[in-house]
Amino acid sequence: MTNWVLITGSSRGIGAATAWRCAEAGWDVALNYARDAASAQALAARIQALGRRTLSLQADVADDAQVAAMFEQIDRAGGRLAGLVNNAGIVAPAGRLEGMSTDRWRRLFDVNVIGTLRCCQQAARRMSHQRGGSGGAIVNVSSRAAEFGSGGIYVDYAATKGAVDTLTKGLARELIAEGIRVNGVRPGVIETEIHADSGLDPQSVAATIPIQRLGRPEEIAEAIVWLLSDAASYTVGAILDVAGGR
Ligand code: NAP
Repeated sequence: MTNWVLITGSSRGIGAATAWRCAEAGWDVALNYARDAASAQALAARIQALGRRTLSLQADVADDAQVAAMFEQIDRAGGRLAGLVNNAGIVAPAGRLEGMSTDRWRRLFDVNVIGTLRCCQQAARRMSHQRGGSGGAIVNVSSRAAEFGSGGIYVDYAATKGAVDTLTKGLARELIAEGIRVNGVRPGVIETEIHADSGLDPQSVAATIPIQRLGRPEEIAEAIVWLLSDAASYTVGAILDVAGGR
């Protein structure tokens, strides 16, 4: 029986590391990406070599129709959707409130917040005991920015992640009665390509982190895979900081 985990934004960075770690843990992996088909397909080939099934699914998580079509492709592949990692996320150029536009705010919230809600809704329809599903686990990727607020850097991005934390707590309470565990992971500063979009040099903050270094995508993946697993069967509504110290 195929047990699919769908990982949004898994063509690179934390999502790609999570996909690989999930495959090692025995999941069949549905990879999602927005633009970079070549990277997703290269990762899919590596995962297949482990003996796991894969799907490579293009969809902008900000688009209702594309997300619905993505979940339908998983349905058609057979097996059951048992895991969802809402990892796709974007930042925007660092700056102060004064220089931000409404379009920028809308895009950040569309991808980071509504994208997460939309994928949770699609997954819950398939996993819920009330709808004939077999249950499942959802992990939402937030950020420590939700706590700091990122003043002078990107308060809007931080606010999207605050919203992700809140919806994680609420959906955890709402969906556990239907056999779906919802949890969150809050990475600190991780070595990925996302920082190019903010224009910030992540190494410049390394000395301010208690552990004195940036995190690696694999270190976030490890926490996500544990939260997806049965080993975390009593963990519901947790928001796990993986950030090298507080
Ligand atoms: P990344 O390296 O920039 O990778 C982002 C991934 O998301 C890519 O696979 C990209 O796919 C995909 N993506 C972007 N927009 C999308 C959309 N609209 N629909 C579907 N997929 C989309 O980012 P990352 O650093 O791994 O970050 C992953 C998550 O961790 C994000 O939610 C981020 O906010 C969070 N996080 C990261 C850090 C950090 O320091 N890196 C810290 C805290 C939290 P394409 O390339 O195909 O477009």
